[in-house]
Amino acid sequence: MTDAQSSNARADRLAALPIREELKGQQPYGAPQLTVRAMLNVNETTHEVPADVVDAITKEVRVAAAQMNRYPDREFTVLREKLADFLSRDLPQAHFTAEHIWAANGSNEIMQHLLQAFAGPGRSVMAFPPTYSMYPLYARGTYSDYIPGTRNEDYTQSAEDVAAQIREHRPNVVILTSPNNPTGTALDLDVVRAAYEAAAESATIVIVDEAYGEFRQPGVASALELLEGRPRLVVTRTMSKAFAMAGGRLGYLAAAPEITDALRLVRLPYHLSIYTQAAACAALDHAESLMANVEKIKVQRDRIVEELTAMGLAPSPSDANFVFFGGLEDEKAVWRHLLDDGVLVRDVGIAGHLRVTAGTEEETTLFLDSLRRSLGR
Ligand SMILES: *Cc1c(COP(=O)(O)O)cnc(C)c1O
Repeated sequence: MTDAQSSNARADRLAALPIREELKGQQPYGAPQLTVRAMLNVNETTHEVPADVVDAITKEVRVAAAQMNRYPDREFTVLREKLADFLSRDLPQAHFTAEHIWAANGSNEIMQHLLQAFAGPGRSVMAFPPTYSMYPLYARGTYSDYIPGTRNEDYTQSAEDVAAQIREHRPNVVILTSPNNPTGTALDLDVVRAAYEAAAESATIVIVDEAYGEFRQPGVASALELLEGRPRLVVTRTMSKAFAMAGGRLGYLAAAPEITDALRLVRLPYHLSIYTQAAACAALDHAESLMANVEKIKVQRDRIVEELTAMGLAPSPSDANFVFFGGLEDEKAVWRHLLDDGVLVRDVGIAGHLRVTAGTEEETTLFLDSLRRSLGR
């Protein structure tokens, strides 16, 4: 049997199973995981993990291993305290405490908890494509309806338009993404305020996904500032991007304490392993060395925007650790050319556009040189 035949036979056997109707014929999430010189397609931190962080995690995981006969702290209290302290560094006036924090295995699981508690059968989730491709999958996985909203032609969103769409559709949950993935631009807080007000009539939960929040341009505010007095607002963050912990799987949120009480009703007990808690706590204890890499990544991000503009391409302004750019005649051919040079970027399925992660200076140079050759500029 050829590979194609055996994979068809396997698909036939899957189709013969009594699988849920809406899962039939679907493909699992899957950005390519290729090992090449510059892997710039899933917005990981590509810098080496700092040695002090590796040492601290190793030490804490060793302590954890000796305690693994017991269930981990179901309330992950120490971790929640450290996350609250981390958020409070930029926003001391917000008085974040462990009560405001929830964490899970990646912000993917955070979203799943939120939708399990606030969406579900007969309820709906609204997001604004082009945006993070996982949102419709979280909706499907929690048996919720997915409502794709719309954006301006340049992918921006205005306060009036977002509010009008929320009033029209009255979703149970609305997800705003700031900075947005794949476009990279952050939202003005006016948009979040207007969304929250429009959502009042339908008692909609408003989630602001700030997975890339630490990479914001100077002067761009975080929706964390708006939490006070807004009990239906949730701001999600992750350690996958700025904390270089994509492999460690730790996402979190800040919200009113009663939101976290709702999530306790749907989480599986002990969902954060003793190792996850140990590694995340150790990384937070060394936030300084990790945040030093964030500053270096921002420099490369701004360099990419500048050089792509000089090449006559059209990058979107970026508050993230990646750049979305248009102006390509044949993005598939460019993607292939880059890969042949050992540079893996993301084809996000938008004609004429690609997305590239800001990596090290060396990786950025590889990417820019290869792109210039590909375009003959
Ligand atoms: C990368 C990313 C996440 C992070 O997911 P994790 O499960 O925390 O790794 C969340 N939201 C968006 C928009 C992202 O791009």
